[in-house]
Amino acid sequence: MKRDKLIFKLLDEEQQRQEEGLELIASENFVSRQVMEAAGSVATNKYAEGLPGKRYYGGCQIVDEIETIAIERAKQLFNAEWVNVQPHSGAQANAAVMLACLNPGDKILGFDLSHGGHLTHGSAVNFSGKLYDPHFYGVKKDTGYVDYELLEKVALKEKPKMIICGASAYSRDWDYVRIRAVADKIGALVLADISHPAGLIARGLLTDPLPHCHIVTTTTHKTLRGPRGGLIMMGKDFENPWGHKTPKGEIKMMSTLLDMAVFPGTQGGPLEHIIAAKAIAFGEALSDSYMKYILQVKKNGAAIAKAFIERGYEIVSGGTDNHLVLIDLRNKNVTGKAAENALVKADITINKNMVPYDDKSPFTTSGIRIGTAAVTTRGMKEKQMEAIAALVDEVINDPENELSLEKVRKKVHKLTEKFPLYKE
Ligand code: PLP
Repeated sequence: MKRDKLIFKLLDEEQQRQEEGLELIASENFVSRQVMEAAGSVATNKYAEGLPGKRYYGGCQIVDEIETIAIERAKQLFNAEWVNVQPHSGAQANAAVMLACLNPGDKILGFDLSHGGHLTHGSAVNFSGKLYDPHFYGVKKDTGYVDYELLEKVALKEKPKMIICGASAYSRDWDYVRIRAVADKIGALVLADISHPAGLIARGLLTDPLPHCHIVTTTTHKTLRGPRGGLIMMGKDFENPWGHKTPKGEIKMMSTLLDMAVFPGTQGGPLEHIIAAKAIAFGEALSDSYMKYILQVKKNGAAIAKAFIERGYEIVSGGTDNHLVLIDLRNKNVTGKAAENALVKADITINKNMVPYDDKSPFTTSGIRIGTAAVTTRGMKEKQMEAIAALVDEVINDPENELSLEKVRKKVHKLTEKFPLYKE
């Protein structure tokens, strides 16, 4: 077959962009060579609808072994009794959970998108807001912390069937015990979506939701540093509260309903090459070197928050417990969009982000979100976090000065050169 020069040239350019630039998007990371190798392996050729040992296709004996190892490693990593490693993404994982637990029109209670929640937690433009009846809680205006009183008030009034916690742009830990207590008052299920802080939770650096929340979903590619994908877990399997029965008349366990909601409910064949890559990433996340890494991610989060505060930036909630900071730029007279565009010119990638009680649209925004997972993979520490805050500050203070942006770009390249990616 003739090599597709066009696509490989673009992939080379993408690699160069990743190597030269500063990657501060909170949801991104750099996987290891072996994770990438598995993701590009022959397992991409294999159809394997079903679960290990129960497939609808022949020739699955080897991918069965791979998927079983992925499941066992994920269980060990998160101390989970049950895991499904097949969701193609975080959104797919949440879709499967909702399909398993809700009927169209059921009420759900999620964290407001404009306060840091995710589209799949009930946004009007997403299946979760179209198929179900969404209600929301948010953060307190004065503290930037989740307003648990509001959560309880809305829950008691609306009696949702499911309460969703977890976020895309929230820098603080969660009180899962409190949320479960509210859910128990109204007989709701609790879904914790830990996509962002999964790696910190897995290694004990944040509160573990698995003992408290009925179901936990995550992506595998953020702080967890695996391939792009999703995961559904339960700390403990339980009898479904709706009395669904098997053809033999036995009560179906929640695990069965969730497995069925992934396949055939929302997906076809699992991506066994990605599952192989997930297995490797879970193995890596159990290692001592990952523990060192994820500790540094958290230290770097604190360091970058401190560095921005010292430069007069307003951080929502005043700091961070995890790998990200949400910066309110309203006192800097620049929108999130303008900041993002100027930073990209200096080879610094971040994303514009709504801040709680934002007066600007999601296309403009008053804030930016910055994460430390990817730069920490490159080996950067607290000292570099200060340097990064200084570079971002230089851009934000003069976002239209092309000369100054070019100067910052050169400084960015000098910094990233010292922390090479994919050395071999
Ligand atoms: N849930 C949360 C909290 C997220 O932050 C994200 C992605 O940013 C998702 C779900 C969706 O993940 P994916 O992009 O893999 O569908």
